[in-house]
Amino acid sequence: MNDIQMVDLKKQYLNIKDEVDEAVLDCISSTRYIGGPKVEGFKRDLESFLDVKHVIPCANGTDALQIALMALGLKPGDEVIVPSFTYVATAEVIALLRLKPIMVDVDPDSFCITPQIFESAINPKVKAVVPVHLFGQCADMGGIMEIASAHGIKVVEDNAQAIGAYFTDSSGQRKRAGTIGDIGCTSFFPSKNLGCFGDGGAMFTNDDELATSLKMIANHGQEIKYYHSVVGCNSRLDAIQAAVLGIKLKHLKKYSEARISVADYYDAAFKDIQELTTPYRSPFSTHVFHQYTLKVAGGKRDALRQFLQEKGIPSMIYYPVPLYKQKAYAQFFNGNELPVTEALSDSVLSLPIHTEMDEDTLVYITGAVRDFFSA
Ligand SMILES: *Cc1c(COP(=O)(O)O)cnc(C)c1O
Repeated sequence: MNDIQMVDLKKQYLNIKDEVDEAVLDCISSTRYIGGPKVEGFKRDLESFLDVKHVIPCANGTDALQIALMALGLKPGDEVIVPSFTYVATAEVIALLRLKPIMVDVDPDSFCITPQIFESAINPKVKAVVPVHLFGQCADMGGIMEIASAHGIKVVEDNAQAIGAYFTDSSGQRKRAGTIGDIGCTSFFPSKNLGCFGDGGAMFTNDDELATSLKMIANHGQEIKYYHSVVGCNSRLDAIQAAVLGIKLKHLKKYSEARISVADYYDAAFKDIQELTTPYRSPFSTHVFHQYTLKVAGGKRDALRQFLQEKGIPSMIYYPVPLYKQKAYAQFFNGNELPVTEALSDSVLSLPIHTEMDEDTLVYITGAVRDFFSA
């Protein structure tokens, strides 16, 4: 068994090559490289897929988070609650805007912040919270929204890993991940569940005023060309990337299903291994498995990773270091280690998962994992 990858973008491309090539060539020959029909078309298609009023495309997921925080009108020194167990971008934009990240612990099962964790970190300076729908499953947005609105706190969902997931609220209504808070942000980085062939990102909102503001900030703070009413930035989704995304969005439902069936296969193969905890399945969110992340008990994580590597099976540790232990973010650390984040950093292991995984590969990977624990 050779050439197993965490994500197999080549096989995915080959399966949609004709459609994608046509859309990209069409864009190239149109010479509409900035804005234009491909960007507009994708924006509308994504609005209808997500059932959200406004999608504002931008250059990448990190920009989306930054522009979202800028649109909320936060002032330097305002505090923003963020999980300590996430990709750096979530906290980076907060620090960059001279806001103060309050890094909180996460739930050991879902890897996301909970309403209780959020509520206990609130103080009068907290003006926003950024729940991260980590690995493809939503945080408990029902409880988070209730607490946020009671305290006048804005909610920016970091939905870079959970596009397409459904959240079910207490009234039984299903909403797409990223469309529940004031603003949702996503990334179209190639390995994300909806990825383009380079960088890309988008913001979602149902609020007309916020939509105007997001659009303006992403476009040099101008609503009318050469008239700048706020300090903005330059963050655009390339038309060629929009052309790719327009095609891939049509396959996203099928792609999510493929990821879920890989996860189901892994779950079944690992369910009797004492030292492994398979991913938690939330009662209020579907899981689109951006990552399939195991918890490995007994300090065996690194040995398992090594064993798999020797058999040609890649695996990754998302994330090996809590944010507050990163050099750049240590300045925001209050000295209290967060026990769940610490434990997860030492025990999580993500296995290969993507949209084109075949049964032979799954048999091989699960066989190797089982061999490790039976040895
Ligand atoms: C990928 C990712 C981002 C950043 O997206 P980019 O497009 O790489 O800037 C932000 N947050 C999370 C949780 C991510 O996984």
